[in-house]
Amino acid sequence: MRHDLSNTHLLIGGIVLTLAVLAGQELLPTRKLELTAPGAVSNLFLQTSSDNQAAVQWIDAEHFRWKCHYTGFDKYQPCGLTFILSGDDPARGRDLGRFDTLEMDLRYKGPSSYIRLSIRNFDPRFSKLEDANSARMHSVNLRPRDIEKPVSIELSELTVPEWWIQQFNLSREYNRPGLQNATALTIDLPSDLTGQVHELELRSLVLNGEWISRDRVYLAILCGWLLGATLMVTRGWSQLRQSHNRQQREIDALTVRTSQLRIEQEKLRRLATIDELTGVLNRRGLEQSLEDFEAAAQGMTLVILDIDHFKHVNDRHGHDCGDEVLRRIAAVVAGNLRASDVFGRWGGEEFLIACQGTRIRDAARLAEKLRERVQQSNIDSAGGRVAVTASFGVALAPPGGSTADALKRADAALYRAKDAGRNRVEMDRTLQSEAPTTV
Ligand code: GH3
Ligand code: MG
Ligand code: MG
Repeated sequence: MRHDLSNTHLLIGGIVLTLAVLAGQELLPTRKLELTAPGAVSNLFLQTSSDNQAAVQWIDAEHFRWKCHYTGFDKYQPCGLTFILSGDDPARGRDLGRFDTLEMDLRYKGPSSYIRLSIRNFDPRFSKLEDANSARMHSVNLRPRDIEKPVSIELSELTVPEWWIQQFNLSREYNRPGLQNATALTIDLPSDLTGQVHELELRSLVLNGEWISRDRVYLAILCGWLLGATLMVTRGWSQLRQSHNRQQREIDALTVRTSQLRIEQEKLRRLATIDELTGVLNRRGLEQSLEDFEAAAQGMTLVILDIDHFKHVNDRHGHDCGDEVLRRIAAVVAGNLRASDVFGRWGGEEFLIACQGTRIRDAARLAEKLRERVQQSNIDSAGGRVAVTASFGVALAPPGGSTADALKRADAALYRAKDAGRNRVEMDRTLQSEAPTTV
């Protein structure tokens, strides 16, 4: 969203800037060269023919008023006013290529059918200083009626006249108009005007041009937009890459967190089936194993172990000692079982052993062995040696049979062992005659 917004800002900024540049181009003052301004051109003169047949004279030099009176018979009688545009170096003129128009206010009185405006451009490739005519000529002929009012002439209207091209017989590219090194500007009457009188007054002569050409402005605008578009695309691409990298980092972090959670979950699941005090399976762990056995329809024998008079142990030696007894009994039993036997704390001071594929008599023998080991276990406490015995109930859970039912029968056998004086093993007799389990 932020990205879109700033792109919109950039776009609006670009449009405003473009409009400002275009308006500025129109409103900026133009480049001006006023040749008739006092002191603008130090070198100007009236020109005439060498034999002086066209008498040319100032009427008022300060206001550029002059008069021509043709007396001779030559066809071409020059009579005009010339502004010398070059400075100390006659080969170096002014660059009029930077101007577009020429505004002229010229008053003319006389019978001439046209007045000529011409500009000479010195080109060192072929122009020679000793021959003023060798500077390329550019001219335009103006009818008197066209200059009755101030007139604006495009400099592109000035062309290189045929006679000049023929006179110098130059290669084609030298005949192209070009005013980069203009050395002189002349207003004259170049026709056959024998015996006639002409009066001219140049009220103003101003060259106008733009400081920066339109083409350059348009090119600059185009370049600006291309640059802006490139910047926008680059910025968008880098933002996209950054957000992609950020998302990738987030995905990586989530993947790590997920696997951590899986490990934790597994740990918790394991902890949930372990008895904290003794480190053997708890009731939940035992139940899961019994369910698995039942689902697999594997026969087994269950042995329930209950510590005798455990309440007295607690009462006489303290609860901590009772805990220690529980831990020791768990360790003694676990140390005398096979890897396939499942053993855990069923609750309080009761433990359960599930012996897969074991005959009830074999399980009873195991119980007997465990009973002896428990009795022999030496458990010391602050109050002296603690004598511990346990009673056992053994019952068969045949393949496909109910585990809950077998548990009940094992429990009943345990009660019988308790009733019969404790520290003994009692078997459930109900299924004793049945065939052994899968073993
Ligand atoms: P019996 O020979 O008939 O089994 O008598 P008993 O005292 O062992 O049986 P009873 O059910 O009367 O008492 C069991 C006692 O076990 C009661 C309870 O305080 C104690 N006990 C149960 N769980 C724990 C335990 O985690 N730690 C300790 N220290 N004692 C416990
Ligand atoms: Mg008990
Ligand atoms: Mg007990």
